[in-house]
Amino acid sequence: MGFYFETTPDDNQYYYFCIYIANIISLSPNYSKFMLNLSMSDRIYLDYNATTPIDPKIEEIISPLYSISFGNAASSTHHYGQDAKKLVERARLQVASGLGCELDEIIFTSGATESINMAIKGIVSARPNNKNHIITTKTEHKAVLDSCEFVRSSGVDIDYLPVDKSGYVSMIDLQDAIRSDTMLVIILHGNNEIGTVQPIMDIGQICLENNIPMLVDAAQTFGKLPINVKDSGIAMLAGSSHKIYGPKGSGFLYKRGDIHIDPLIHGGGHEMGLRSGTHNVAGIVGLAVAYRLMLTDQEKEKKKLDNHVQDFINELQKSKLKYYINGPKEERLPGNLNICLKGIDADWLTSMIPNIAVARGSACTSETIQPSHVLRAIGLSDEDANSSIRISFGRFTTKQEIKKASNILIEKSKMYLTKKESLAI
Ligand code: PLP
Repeated sequence: MGFYFETTPDDNQYYYFCIYIANIISLSPNYSKFMLNLSMSDRIYLDYNATTPIDPKIEEIISPLYSISFGNAASSTHHYGQDAKKLVERARLQVASGLGCELDEIIFTSGATESINMAIKGIVSARPNNKNHIITTKTEHKAVLDSCEFVRSSGVDIDYLPVDKSGYVSMIDLQDAIRSDTMLVIILHGNNEIGTVQPIMDIGQICLENNIPMLVDAAQTFGKLPINVKDSGIAMLAGSSHKIYGPKGSGFLYKRGDIHIDPLIHGGGHEMGLRSGTHNVAGIVGLAVAYRLMLTDQEKEKKKLDNHVQDFINELQKSKLKYYINGPKEERLPGNLNICLKGIDADWLTSMIPNIAVARGSACTSETIQPSHVLRAIGLSDEDANSSIRISFGRFTTKQEIKKASNILIEKSKMYLTKKESLAI
């Protein structure tokens, strides 16, 4: 049972609870039900960058936390509260040891959006008088862009750095943008739309040399790629559970001990006074177990996802459709593929394949029908941006699904082009 949580010999109650959980995992009745549902359904889920289904192993671990060990981690006078507190602290230990940081540097939140808001607004609120400038990039997630716009309205200067065709930020542009009053550099590690993985170690080094904290949005890379905050210039890092098969509504902010931020949420003083509110114990445990599972199979899972991406590209290549890949050709965010299908209306295409879940733009902005700001930033015309779709594969994607989804997508794309051609005549 030590696989999921390290236990201490005197910790009997907790130990038995862990055994109970281990038994549930090995019985795993939900697992086969889940796999059966996935394989029998006509639907194919290829939008893992938007969110992931909870892994049945994790679901079975956290379910009893809503009914058996449901205590409030702040209720220290009885076993219910004490057990809940132990679970939260063990989860903190797992996340902290995976990232290489101290326990009190992990603040549990409701997800990456909250962590990013907390970091940006918190550092702005606590800033000294001589600091008033933030550097970020044009291809950040809305959680960063909108938080930056919010603090800009209170007088903070923001520089949005451009990116090249593959989505990479230039180190020279970054160096040039740094000012004596720069208080924060914010960088998206793995781009959720086009899969660019920024060189955070190099960026962190520049930040360290200039004594500027760097906030990393790792919502897409936490657990998927190796990250060690101690060997880098990372001062803060936001992560999320629902991108790695954990429950929704759970995430964290890593904040280096010397970084001072003001809290966004006031109340009972939970999480070192930085995030008040009753702990989401099941969410926190789910996040830690999800992370542990990701770390256990990180390399293997990455390889599998890289193969899925290549299989899909191979099918496209065979089809003779005109397409190109948005973002880098290599070293992408695992499982991410963004393609421009030349001349095809992605809106029409996605409406014609209702059983195949892919994304037109960023999932978080897909309600607003505007060309994606990321695709625009890498230089796509509005027409090409509107012909682009994001396909993202995950743990439960099968080869058969890839074959089926690519065939349907290719067939509908060809149908669109034939219709377009006949209308033009
Ligand atoms: N940052 C990136 C890059 C994301 O992809 C997302 C989610 O789509 C977020 C932040 C927000 O994460 P959460 O849903 O945990 O708030």
